[in-house]
Amino acid sequence: MPASHGYAAQSNTTPLAPHAFSRRAPLPSDIVVDIEFCGVCHSDLHMARNEWGNSVYPMVPGHEIVGKVTEVGSAVTKFKVGDTAAIGVLVDSCRDCAKCNIGEEQYCLNGMTLTYAVPDRVDGSITMGGYSSNYVVDERFAHTVPANLPLAGVAPLLCAGITTYSPLRHWKVGPGMKVGIVGLGGLGHMALKFAHSFGAHVVQFTTSLSKKADALRLGADEVVLSTDPEAMKAHASSFDFILDTASAPHSLDPYSALLKHDAAMVLVGLPEHPPVVNVTNFMFKRASLSGSCIGGIPETQEMLDYCGQHNITSDVEVIPMANINQAFERMLKQDVKYRFVIDMKTL
Ligand code: NAP
Ligand code: ZN
Ligand code: ZN
Repeated sequence: MPASHGYAAQSNTTPLAPHAFSRRAPLPSDIVVDIEFCGVCHSDLHMARNEWGNSVYPMVPGHEIVGKVTEVGSAVTKFKVGDTAAIGVLVDSCRDCAKCNIGEEQYCLNGMTLTYAVPDRVDGSITMGGYSSNYVVDERFAHTVPANLPLAGVAPLLCAGITTYSPLRHWKVGPGMKVGIVGLGGLGHMALKFAHSFGAHVVQFTTSLSKKADALRLGADEVVLSTDPEAMKAHASSFDFILDTASAPHSLDPYSALLKHDAAMVLVGLPEHPPVVNVTNFMFKRASLSGSCIGGIPETQEMLDYCGQHNITSDVEVIPMANINQAFERMLKQDVKYRFVIDMKTL
């Protein structure tokens, strides 16, 4: 069993600290990846602090992983030793249900296996995430990385990237559409880049006016301070699509009031407390409210290839492993531009 070490939470109130553990013994279809960079997702913070009520400890977070392949099993065809591989939020699934069979493994009818804090389908051990030295994964759940992209900026694509790319594609965001992005954090800045790249007119909603110049640089056509009722009113009933990435509890009403008839508002942010929905804004416009969960394995590869073709990566602040607890605190203060990525050499 490959030895591993990383940073773990031992309970919902303890800071992350060094932790040694072992990975499952690799199967013939597995690859072993030495982790070079791992992004810091707000979900890692929600999970480390048990904000969703399903956490198990010790927990090594991290699901935005890129690194070098150091071992391949005898049945592996997609990778060879020395290749770069990427691993996201989903590392296994039943592989044989209606959802898995169409490449939507994130909606596996028998439950996807998350990168950390759930039982591994192979040996029942609890999965441990990417704030660590290595990972063992079936090659089907690992991705190839376009050679032209800087790896630190690629890591966040594995969650922030695919979680925003997937709904923008599903709702066919493109030219002629007015699209709103709520929150300019890790997910939000990727949503902004993709919506701009797909040709939509993009309005960035933020609670932090200090981020306005960055939002314009990242591709926003307009920036709106969502706490300013007059500025919000100017956009009433004008949006085709709004993607909400906010990580903290907030009212949906100021945003849903901006939807056009038959428009859609999609939630990807998952705050500790769920929103109370005022149905009126949806009912009288036949508008829809939906959620979306990461993306499937084929779509994640499609997204990475799209990023390679269009030179899209995340704007990152690279940090040493020892600064993870400070990074969590800064993320809570909305002080991240726009994704922390851990340099695993510092582990
Ligand atoms: P993040 O980097 O911390 O960004 C969150 C942003 O939300 C903040 O920067 C802030 O942007 C905005 N925000 C915070 N409080 C707000 C409020 N009260 N009202 C409006 N906006 C507010 O977090 P992230 O990593 O992007 O993750 C965002 C959320 O998505 C988390 O809840 C995470 O768990 C969830 N998530 C879901 C999926 C999925 O599959 N659905 C996948 C990954 C993550 P401004 O400063 O611009 O206001
Ligand atoms: Zn994530
Ligand atoms: Zn399945």
